[in-house]
Amino acid sequence: MTLRSQARALLIQAATLARLDDVALHFQNRRKPSLGLVVAVHETPASLANQFQEQLEWVSRHFTIASLEVFARLWEHLPKSDAKPPILFTFDDGRESNYTVAAPLLESFGGRGVFFVVPAFAECAPADALAFYRSRINPNSQPGDEKWEDWKPMSPGQIAELAARGHAIGNHTLTHERLVGRSPENLEREIGDSASKLSGWTEKPVDAFAWTFGWDAIDSKAWTVAQRHHRFCFAPCPGAIDARYDSPALLWRREIELRYSAAEYRLLYSGLADSWWSAHRTHLRRKLRVSPLHKIEVL
Ligand SMILES: [Zn+2]
Repeated sequence: MTLRSQARALLIQAATLARLDDVALHFQNRRKPSLGLVVAVHETPASLANQFQEQLEWVSRHFTIASLEVFARLWEHLPKSDAKPPILFTFDDGRESNYTVAAPLLESFGGRGVFFVVPAFAECAPADALAFYRSRINPNSQPGDEKWEDWKPMSPGQIAELAARGHAIGNHTLTHERLVGRSPENLEREIGDSASKLSGWTEKPVDAFAWTFGWDAIDSKAWTVAQRHHRFCFAPCPGAIDARYDSPALLWRREIELRYSAAEYRLLYSGLADSWWSAHRTHLRRKLRVSPLHKIEVL
C-alpha cells in the first residue's frame, strides 16, 4: 500500500466512524435543491454485480437515479427542496459488461445511464480488441492484468439496443484520442465524425460528450469542437453540479467504481472529498472560458 492510498484509507475510516458522510449528504441534499451528481464508472464485471446492486440500493435512498433527459431538467426548473437530488450514472469506453451487467441493473432501479462509447473500439474484430484496449484505452495496462471484461467492447448492435431502451449514447471520441494540441482536421474526425457515426447507429442525436484520460487532457480548441456537436460536455473532474452556476457545457463527474468498498463510496457520494478538486475545476473553467450561469431563483 502506498503512502497516498494509506492516507486515503485512513481518511475513509475516520470519516465513516464520525458519520461525517451522512452529515455531508444531508447538507448537500437538503440545502441546495439545484444540486445533481454525475458518477463515472468503467468496467462492470458480472463478478461485481451484487456489489453494484448494493451500491445502487444505498444510492436510491439518497438520490433519484435519473436518465440524461431527466437530469437535464435541473436547468429547466429546480426540484422542490425536499426532493432527492438527481444522480446520473455514466460508463466510459463502451465495454460489453456495461451492456450485460450495468444497463439491466440500472433499469431495475428505474434508471437509465449514459454510455460513452468509442466507435473504433466497438468496430474492432474480436482478435483486435485487446490490442486496441492496450494501445488506445488503457496504455497503463500490463499484459496479463486484464480480464476479458476490461477489454471486450460492446458491438454497434448492442449500442443501438441500449439507445432504444432509453439509455443515452455519448461520444468518447472516435479512437479514444487524447485531445490536446490536435489539428482542426483531427478534432473534427475524432469528435464530429464520431458523433455522426453514433447517431447513424442509434438513429438519435448524440447530446453528450466526455473527453478521454485526465481532468486536464483537453484544450479550448477541442472543447469548442465538442461544443459545436454536443449540448453536454462531461469532465473527468469530481464535483457536485449546481445548476444555478454550472453550465451543461462543462459538467463534473466523480469516479466511483463497482469495486469500491461501502465506506469508500459513501464518502465519495457525500461530496466531502470534492473540495480537493476545487482548484482543478476553477482551472478548467478559466482554460475553457466557461462562465458561471446567472443565478436563478430557487423555487
Ligand atoms: Zn476513456
